[in-house]
Amino acid sequence: MRVKKITLSSFRNIDYAEIPFKEGMNFLLGGNAQGKTNILEGIYLFARGKSFRLSKDAELIKFGAGGFSAELVFEGKEREERLAYRFDGKTREKRKNGVLLERTADMLGHFRAVLFYPDHLQLVKGSPSERRRFLDVAISQCYPVYLSLYTRYAKYLSERNSLLKLAQKGNGGYDFEAQIAVYSDLLASLAAELRLYREEYAKKLSVYAKDLLYTLSGEKESLSLTYHSDTPYEEGLDKAALTERYKTALSSSLPREIGAGSTLFGVHRDDLVFYLNGKDARDFASQGQQRSLVLVLKLAEGKISEALFGDTPVYLFDDVLSELDEERKKFLLEGVGSAQFIFTGCDRASVKDAPVHFIEVENGEVTF
Ligand code: ATP
Ligand code: MG
Repeated sequence: MRVKKITLSSFRNIDYAEIPFKEGMNFLLGGNAQGKTNILEGIYLFARGKSFRLSKDAELIKFGAGGFSAELVFEGKEREERLAYRFDGKTREKRKNGVLLERTADMLGHFRAVLFYPDHLQLVKGSPSERRRFLDVAISQCYPVYLSLYTRYAKYLSERNSLLKLAQKGNGGYDFEAQIAVYSDLLASLAAELRLYREEYAKKLSVYAKDLLYTLSGEKESLSLTYHSDTPYEEGLDKAALTERYKTALSSSLPREIGAGSTLFGVHRDDLVFYLNGKDARDFASQGQQRSLVLVLKLAEGKISEALFGDTPVYLFDDVLSELDEERKKFLLEGVGSAQFIFTGCDRASVKDAPVHFIEVENGEVTF
């Protein structure tokens, strides 16, 4: 998979730009606050269906303009494809090869990209929700149905939590518990489905990341990655059996949940746990170890996508090279194989003699 061109209009600090990309390594070069990350954001819009900065569409509109548009032309496995995203301040319109796409999930699965953003360094020591988000975003790109399941799960979860809060207050003998039980069943079944996707994904991630980190660290670091949950799972457990486990967990903890006013079992409580040489990375990983770990997780994400679709995703690496030492940079620049990379950075020298196509970005304008 390869980005051929992105066209951005009234997007962030970009008035209008048509930016062609080459195969292999591309480097968006420019000083701070010139628009490099904005360009990656414009490209990744098509991988995730929305901004990775968690911004609202209105924030993507160039200050003072009435709307924005973005169009991506990319080389898919078999043919050239075109995705478009337009927002006029009120309604958004997404299209694939001219055909209207109805939902956010419809945008997923066409253009696949792996994003490394400096905030992702929080992945190791940040809250479990960051690691869950990493999994959810990565899985959604491989299996767009996952996003629909997840969206329903989040909706039922929030409704169930509201009921638990009402039950906590107690309300004129109204039977909240029967209503809560209906939500418990809905949640249990969705939790089981999501859990199976996550378990399978975490297993693949573990295999690739372990291998990559071992090489990157000069055979010094051994990674163990596991999916953590209060609801047990063993390899081979099917959806029906897992659903039963969630149902039991939810019904047996109801009094406690009413006391807490929130749902205490389910995939919204889970985590990914990383061990480096037998020690919990959350407590013991150094800055450099965290950086290496996140780097290999991202590369592993790409490998999973490649194995699944028989085609490399596009790697969007924001401000990563300047932070890497020579050894890790070499590992990255030499190990990319045939995939397309789009890096950003302030310093031309950070890629040394690697064959890189430079694109200069200055105040929202681009020269190549
Ligand atoms: P750095 O090297 O510091 O990461 P960058 O080149 O990646 O810089 P961007 O994050 O792309 O910089 O942002 C460039 C500028 O875009 C910022 O100064 C920001 O204020 C501006 N900007 C963000 N949103 C909008 C918007 N909606 N309209 C106009 N400008 C915006
Ligand atoms: Mg930036």
